Formats: sequence, structure tokens, C-alpha cells
Amino acid sequence: MSRQVIIIGRPNVGKSTLFNRLVGKKLALVDDQPGVTRDRRFGEAHLLGLDFTIVDTAGWEEEDPTSLSGRMRMQTMAALEGADVALFVVDARHGITPLDDEIGRYLREQKVPVILVANKAEGRAGEGGYYESYTLGMGDPVAISAEHGEGMAELFEALLPFFNEDDEEEGLPPIDPEDEEALNRAPLKLAIVGRPNAGKSTTINALLGEDRLLTGPEAGITRDSIAIDWEWQDPKTDEIRPIRLIDTAGMRKKSLVVEKLEKLAVADARHAVDFAEVVVLMLDATRGLEHQDLKIASLVLEEGRALMIVINKWDVAEDASGLFNGIRAALDEGLAQVKGLPVLAVSARTGKGLDQMIATAFELRSAWSKRVPTAALNRWFDSALSANPPPAPGGKRIKLRYITQAKTRPPSFILFGTRLDALPKSYERYLTNSIRRDLGFNAVPVRLTLRMPK
Ligand code: GDP
Ligand code: GDP
Repeated sequence: MSRQVIIIGRPNVGKSTLFNRLVGKKLALVDDQPGVTRDRRFGEAHLLGLDFTIVDTAGWEEEDPTSLSGRMRMQTMAALEGADVALFVVDARHGITPLDDEIGRYLREQKVPVILVANKAEGRAGEGGYYESYTLGMGDPVAISAEHGEGMAELFEALLPFFNEDDEEEGLPPIDPEDEEALNRAPLKLAIVGRPNAGKSTTINALLGEDRLLTGPEAGITRDSIAIDWEWQDPKTDEIRPIRLIDTAGMRKKSLVVEKLEKLAVADARHAVDFAEVVVLMLDATRGLEHQDLKIASLVLEEGRALMIVINKWDVAEDASGLFNGIRAALDEGLAQVKGLPVLAVSARTGKGLDQMIATAFELRSAWSKRVPTAALNRWFDSALSANPPPAPGGKRIKLRYITQAKTRPPSFILFGTRLDALPKSYERYLTNSIRRDLGFNAVPVRLTLRMPK
């Protein structure tokens, strides 16, 4: 369903002009005379990559600028009802008036999130009013010029968070990236996948500390998997942290022969990534890395899940360091998407390394859920471009203008520019690799979408 964005503000601040700018047609009547009554208008808006329904309200006439007349309230309230976000427009040239204050107070009582927009901010004359609008206490104002089309990228960026939630993968409710506590409270959704006999069931049993898998809790059993809720105590901090472990292989174990299980390993992994935030790919130290493992690893990364490699049966590994380095090199070669995946060695039999495995999984989830502050992202963008400027195929330069993080879980970025269709894949890889390295995502898969504004 299309998102609805509502424009609110006193007369003459430029609501219609903004509406026209977003709808792209001279649809709205622009009038210099304050107080011209109009009905609520709806338009299909396009802003860079976002499409949404825009609603212009004209209900704030100033018959009595200190109080809101019943009609005004009703009209605006009705419009606010269906809105996902409100753009509260003020006039940066004129400054903040008592009616602006009144509207601000009113909006604060409403449930709808508000973006403060300081319009007519082109040139010097808008500076005073822009700063004055901070006094409304509605956060950082977005400076725009509806008439001249300035500040549209910033407006886009302010709107973006309200468009993301829907796109989250099924089964993974969005978590506010700024809310670290909420993230810590939410159980880590962890899946352990891998070929038969790698030691997945043994690992799960060792983690749970008792032979609970075979009985399995009633809750969360689906056709193909069991969800086991338990709590892990971090031995370093003594913190208790909830985990939801997805077990796909354990339950079919008894009923199937090994050849069939081999085939099902990939299907199991596919199923597990629907649920999991972090996926452990378990290898058998006595067998090493095989083609099937790479296939599972790519699948997990393509689905945008955080992946870690765990080599089990370390207690019986021969030439341990040779094995470890061999697997690491084969992974880097076989998985071009992500270099430097975390690789850990454990023994499910002795329990060695299992706490480290869980601790690493929590770290991965944090990185996977992280949002980079805009300022840091812009700084990174400037330095990445100057360190390695985009190429000029056929002598014509590709211009990269702006980058924004559109989503977390997995971290997803949108890059705006011109002639992006000519941008070589290698350059794209350079950007994603350096996002991962420089902005702390490390081995978490990062998505980059290219967009050319019309
Ligand atoms: P509304 O009553 O809030 O819908 O305001 P309008 O869109 O009708 O605009 C009121 C007046 O402000 C018109 O004369 C517009 O041309 C002017 N205006 C709108 N946006 C801008 C802007 O970004 N800069 C300047 N300088 N004037 C603007
Ligand atoms: P799954 O098919 O991946 O669930 O594998 P299982 O957990 O059933 O383990 C397969 C076999 O490997 C069993 O015989 C386990 O006892 C053995 N195994 C599991 N973990 C270890 C380990 O850390 N060390 C050793 N030496 N054997 C293990």
C-alpha cells in the first residue's frame, strides 16, 4: 500500500508549491493571498526513488491565530488519520509565528510522526527563520526551497525511515536500530546449518546442556523446523541473553538415510534463512570445505543474512592450522561477495569454543542491525571517492552524488548519481567492500542499490 504523507502548515508557507514540486505537475493552485480556502488535495508524489500519496491540507486559516477553530481541527484531524508521516512546513523567510507554535503544539499531541520543513530557505534570507524553527522543538528542520527544488535529497532522506518497515523480510520484525536495548531484549534468531554429520545436533544439545532436542518443546514446531527458546549466559559479562535457535535438521534425522539428507541440507538452509538473523554454517574438521558448503554459504549471503563459519570436531582435527588456513582461503576465493567471514573452530563434543560462537553471533547481529549516522556516511563517501574516483568510460565521467542508508537488517544503501548504468561492477564492489570495512560492518553482507534520479 502506498504511504501517505501529509503537508501541514499555516497559509502562505509554500504548501501548495511543495505539493506541486512533489507531484510534478502544476496541479495545485498557488496563491499569494493567505487564507484562500481549498479542499484537501491528494496527489501521487515522486521524490528521488520514493513514491507516495501526498495530501495538502489547507485548513489553517488564521481567523483567530491563537486558537484553532473547530473546522480547522476537524479537517486536519481527518487528514492526519490516514497519514504515515506529516511534513510540518514553516516559512524560513518569515520566521516562526504564534500560529506555527500552535500547530506545533497540536502536532505533538498526535500520534503521527512529524518532519519539520523550513521552506523558502534558498539564499541568505532564509537562515534566520531556519534557526528559529528549532524553537518549535520538533527536531532538526529540513531546509528546502519548494520553488527552486532545493533540499529534495535531504527531504527524501528524512522521509526514508518511514518507508522501510514494510520491506523487512518475513518473520523478522523490524527493530529500531537506535534502540540498542530493544535489540538486546529481542531473542537472537540463530540457525545452524550444514551437511549431515557435521555435528549440528550435538552442538545444539551441548548448548542447551541437556538432551532436550529429541523431546522438543511443543511451541514453534513447524513442518520443517523446531524453534527452541533458551537463554545463554555470557561467561564474560554474566549477562543473560535470549536466543531462539532454529533447528531444521535435528527433527528429520531419525527418519532419513544419509544421501537424502545431503540433498536436503541446501533446502534446510534455505528454510532456516527465512527465520534467522544469523546463520552458522557448520563444517566437519575431518572433511573440510566442500562444494555443497559454498553453495549454502552463497545462499545465506544472497538472502542478506549474517553468516559465520564454524569448523566443528576440532578435537580430532589433524594439522589444525593448515586446515584452518586452507578453509579460510577457499572461502575468500569461493565467495567473492564477502571477504573475511568469521571462521571459528569448536568442538561440540568437549564444548570448547561454543561460547565464543554465540558471542560472535551476537556481535554479527549488532553489525547487521546497525545504522550509520548520516554525517559519518557522508564523510566516508567523500573519502572513498577521492581515494578512488569513479571511472570515466568512453571519456564521460560518472557522477556519484549522494548515498543514504535505506535499511538495516541487512544494511542496505542507495547510491544516487548519473550514468550509473555504466558503473563497472568492480567499482560497485569497491564501494561495498569499503562500506563494510570502514563503517564497521565487517563481514556482514551489505546491499547497494544504484539509482538515477529523473
Ligand atoms: P500555501 O498557502 O502554504 O499553500 O503556500 P503557496 O504554495 O501558495 O505559496 C505561497 C507563496 O510562497 C507563493 O507566492 C509562492 O510562490 C511562495 N513560495 C513557495 N515556496 C517558496 C520558496 O521555496 N521560496 C520562495 N522564495 N517563495 C516560495
Ligand atoms: P548433524 O547431522 O549435523 O546433526 O550431526 P550430529 O550432531 O548427529 O553428529 C554427527 C556425528 O559426529 C556424531 O557421531 C557425533 O557424535 C559426532 N560429533 C559431533 N560433534 C563432534 C565433535 O565435536 N567432535 C567429535 N570428535 N565428534 C563429534
